[in-house]
Amino acid sequence: MDFQLTKEEQLIQGAAREFAEKEIGPAVEEIVSSNRVPEEILAGLRELDLFALPVPEVYGGAEAGYVCYILAMEQIARVCPGVAVILSVNNLAAAAVNIFGTEEQKKRYIPQGTRGDTAFSFAFTEPGTGSDPKQLAATAKKDGDHYVLNGTKRFITNSSYRGPIIVFARETETDQVNAFILDKFCEGYSVSEPWNKMGVKGAPLHDVYLRDVRIPAENVLGGLGKGFWILKVAMALGKIGISSIFLGAMLAAYEDGLRYAVEKTHRGEPIAKFQAIQMAVADMFMKYESCRWMTYRLGSLAERAKDKGDILKDSAATKIFVTETAVDVARISMGIHGSYGVMEDYRISRLWKDVIFGPQVEGVSHLLKVLVAGEILRK
Ligand SMILES: Cc1cc2nc3c(=O)[nH]c(=O)nc-3n(C[C@H](O)[C@H](O)[C@H](O)COP(=O)(O)OP(=O)(O)OC[C@H]3O[C@@H](n4cnc5c(N)ncnc54)[C@H](O)[C@@H]3O)c2cc1C
Repeated sequence: MDFQLTKEEQLIQGAAREFAEKEIGPAVEEIVSSNRVPEEILAGLRELDLFALPVPEVYGGAEAGYVCYILAMEQIARVCPGVAVILSVNNLAAAAVNIFGTEEQKKRYIPQGTRGDTAFSFAFTEPGTGSDPKQLAATAKKDGDHYVLNGTKRFITNSSYRGPIIVFARETETDQVNAFILDKFCEGYSVSEPWNKMGVKGAPLHDVYLRDVRIPAENVLGGLGKGFWILKVAMALGKIGISSIFLGAMLAAYEDGLRYAVEKTHRGEPIAKFQAIQMAVADMFMKYESCRWMTYRLGSLAERAKDKGDILKDSAATKIFVTETAVDVARISMGIHGSYGVMEDYRISRLWKDVIFGPQVEGVSHLLKVLVAGEILRK
């Protein structure tokens, strides 16, 4: 067991940190107020291969593996979690195509997730269901050698960007759930106005309307009736991205709390002299370090797993622990800030609105705990 980062890992981590601080940092206010990421930042992320770090080189990725991916995502999210959300969903869907796609699907679609001007979306959630796949209502009606898709998908990240989208829908004849891959903005595809999210600004979130979208039968991903399994595996990989994002946001909250503890004085001395503040600092450190190693370990597990379905339990457990701990750390950091912590002028107030998203997305904590317990008890 070696807790040292390799040279390559340090390089990618350093490059992501430098880009985040120099290029994204100065634009954060604009990103938050407009809820858009400027094109030049997306292009810069592309230059650094951050749209496709774990994606195989043959399809335009960097093939740098999941540990490097986590290290880079943590640094991007430390400065702006919303930017990292765009990358996370893109990487999750690209990975799904890489695992389940035919060679033709991989060649056609994966490169679109590496370019920076197009991005993948992954559409499971609907107005009637987020946690329970069995309630899926979008339909796919077979019509000769085509399918006709209808339905509404809720809260779909990147859906206003051009590029591919993976859609889960129920086949009307057989009732089985399939994953379909198609181009956004094809005939019958449209999106709602953006949702006005309270945090993770920058990552566009819309509902997707599918109205008689006609696609060839060869656009089924991973075979007929494989929808639920694809959903499970892809979401397990997605949780690597989500854990890294909220690890990065947690680090930012920790750093802000620490800085404030040292800079803010009472009677001419830093508040860090108070034992209560020292305990808060120790708590933030312990929480961040435990989450950091748990997330890095998940990257290593994902990298080594031949069948990515083997990481279901660990990815869910990591995602629950990291996202909930990020809320704890932000709360502790706010406490250190006193009333200044709830002022918009202080970054911790924005981070609070970001970290609160973690336990709500890509599987709420309650249900993921049921999944983790199920995996443990099954053995
Ligand atoms: C920023 C953001 C980005 C997103 N991006 C995407 C995306 O790109 N693609 C996509 O498909 N979705 C996306 N989503 C949707 C998100 O993943 C879902 O909203 C989430 O999984 C929760 O679903 P829900 O909101 O319908 O909650 P519900 O399923 O309605 O759950 C509500 C509450 O009920 C509890 N609950 C529900 N069922 C059970 C049960 N059986 N047992 C115990 N408790 C239960 C849950 O734990 C939760 O506390 C995004 C959401 C956000 C906020």
